[in-house]
Amino acid sequence: MAAQVAIRGPRSLLRQIREALAGGGPAQARLDMVVRIIALSMVADVCSIYLRRASGEMELFATEGLDTNAVHVTRMKPGEGLIGEIIRQGSPLNLADAPEHVAFSFRPETGESPLHGFLGVPLLRGGRAIGVLVVQNKAARTYSDDEVDDLQIVAMVLAEMVASGELITVGELEGVEIAPRKPERLIGSKFAEGLAYGAVVLHEPPVASSQLLSDDVAAEEQRLAAALAGLKAQIDKMLEGQSGLVDASYEVLESYRMFAHSTSWNRSLEDAVKNGLTAEAAVERVRSEHRARLGQARDPYLRERLHDLEDLNDRLLRHLSGDASVARDLPENAILVARNLGPADLLEYDRTKLRGLLLEEGSSASHAAIVARALDIPCVGRLSGLRDKVSEGDPVIVDAETGEAYLRPRPDVVGAIKARIDVRRQRQAEFAKLKDTPAFTRDGVKITLLMNAGLDVDLESLVETGAEGIGLFRTEFQFMVSEEMPRFNAQTALYSRVMDAAGGLPVTFRTLDLGGDKVLPYMEAEREDNPALGWRAIRMGLDRPALLRLQLRALIAAARGRPLRIMFPLVANVDEFRAGRALVDTEVAWAQRRGRPAPSRLDVGAMIEAPSLIWHLDALLPMTDFVSVGTNDLMQYLFAADRGNSRVADRYDPLSPPALRALEAIQRACAETGTPVSVCGEMAGRPLEAFTLVALGFERLSMPPAGIGPVKQMVLGCDRELARRGVSALLKSSAGSVRSEIETLARKLSLAV
Ligand code: PEP
Ligand code: MG
Repeated sequence: MAAQVAIRGPRSLLRQIREALAGGGPAQARLDMVVRIIALSMVADVCSIYLRRASGEMELFATEGLDTNAVHVTRMKPGEGLIGEIIRQGSPLNLADAPEHVAFSFRPETGESPLHGFLGVPLLRGGRAIGVLVVQNKAARTYSDDEVDDLQIVAMVLAEMVASGELITVGELEGVEIAPRKPERLIGSKFAEGLAYGAVVLHEPPVASSQLLSDDVAAEEQRLAAALAGLKAQIDKMLEGQSGLVDASYEVLESYRMFAHSTSWNRSLEDAVKNGLTAEAAVERVRSEHRARLGQARDPYLRERLHDLEDLNDRLLRHLSGDASVARDLPENAILVARNLGPADLLEYDRTKLRGLLLEEGSSASHAAIVARALDIPCVGRLSGLRDKVSEGDPVIVDAETGEAYLRPRPDVVGAIKARIDVRRQRQAEFAKLKDTPAFTRDGVKITLLMNAGLDVDLESLVETGAEGIGLFRTEFQFMVSEEMPRFNAQTALYSRVMDAAGGLPVTFRTLDLGGDKVLPYMEAEREDNPALGWRAIRMGLDRPALLRLQLRALIAAARGRPLRIMFPLVANVDEFRAGRALVDTEVAWAQRRGRPAPSRLDVGAMIEAPSLIWHLDALLPMTDFVSVGTNDLMQYLFAADRGNSRVADRYDPLSPPALRALEAIQRACAETGTPVSVCGEMAGRPLEAFTLVALGFERLSMPPAGIGPVKQMVLGCDRELARRGVSALLKSSAGSVRSEIETLARKLSLAV
């Protein structure tokens, strides 16, 4: 047969592949045809396709040039040989002399010994390598950059064809891992309590495979250019809005702009379009490469850059679609899956359909987690490898009671979760009935149940739960979910809305508790070796009083002559409280000088979160109007265990003699001086812990809204005196934890905890 003249370039190659496949026929014959066409077009002696089996092995699926008996016989173990190397790196491997490479693995059954020139590219889908396409030559040769590019485009199209069943039908793909299909359980951390069952919605919209190849390169180039210009203009506008505000935030956006203008990013996109891809496919292709390359990076800086690039890609896709909004229409029972979510992203989705949230990264202090808790959307995070393990529409369970995700769960697991969801719903209905019942213990002690809040969306819970006020309003949340620093007016507006919604119920505003694990996207934070012990909360406020004073001014303005309660976080020393209180006085005087009303009543309090204060309560309490115990931080400092580090966060039990003695000392000192005291850490919202706090004498508990019902039910059944006696005996225990003893006590008192 006369040698055909190879037609160069991926467009003609892709056309040939499409034409050849148009005739149909069995899968194997079609794959064989594909490798033959590629070998011919690229003037290669060998062309082979390997696809990933569910076991992770790479199986030779088709070859032109190697011994065809090796097809479906040769399987490379995960990580084995050059194929394994390509999968591991997620990028092409271009070798003049393959046997020289350290990873080379010789497979006699393929008869490949005399082959030297080697070019392999991964078949990438959503940043995940599902196979490898290889061309080889007998002669030692290096493939040109153009050839590498061409083969990558072919590989991308092949990956989509394989995944969509266009090339091989689903039945024929049995065991090939295009999209994982096996049930899988991932263990992560619970970010927001609850249970949900639904269908996966990927946070980044996938590109339909039909749009991969363009019909009109010039038109596509124009679309890309317009979208890039739109993107750059958008970022410039963001920068303008920031100018003169905070130097640090300006720098962050500057570096973002640098990415958007980066020649290599722009050129990669333009090249991909020149080679015949649609603009959307070009974005996906470049994104896949970045993900595969940077996703492996251990350096947190590089991983952060990947996050920036992901965001940039998403923005560009939105510009291409002509619709700038993030959120899409959701199916009923949607479970949102994302690597991480940006500030306010979650708020853009339709809450009536969103049932749960699964995140690959994040921390329980991340924006998404905060908003998820506020919206009462169960959320599990830190699910390693999640994004690559699910496809759009996959059934999935969010078990945010245990911190797990079940991907494509078996029917019995679904049955069990549905039963648990029903039980939870019934219990919530019972709690709702208690909404207007005041929380008195059986022996007549009134326990005041307050809720913790921080965002507008929390305010609805005030009515729903029947909380008697807001015991902790975390003002930093507004800062954390904003794209830019909230100014005076924005702060005043939020505080007014909160006071209006509370309608006379007390609201305790905590001043900004930033730093530590709470960092702002627009404020450059200096890296600290020990952020939890670092420059945070009131320390930052006193060192940079402008920010704190602006906030105090906004609080006083929002009060408009109504009562105002202000509380300082992480006071570790009485002088800090004195200095904070003096700033409040200064701001009240400032308002009065301008003829504005002072609050009709002003209460200024301290959070007890640093153990140091426990031994200086005699000095602190007389100068405060109230105190609130932040047990989340108090426990972390008492036990020297980082609350954000899942390895140590649960290592120590607040229900242990040292913790309970510390709490008792605080309660006693407050009782003796008549200082109002509340507990506002998460433990106040857990019935067993709340029972213990009531036993220790605490009568004001502030907690996440979801805790109010269960805690009230506990209070209504509790005899405080009996509880007090039982718990005081346990304070003397020599056990490391007295949780089980307290459980026994509660059961003996017939409490549902
Ligand atoms: C605490 O530390 O217990 C507390 C309520 O404050 P935060 O959780 O916001 O640090
Ligand atoms: Mg705290």
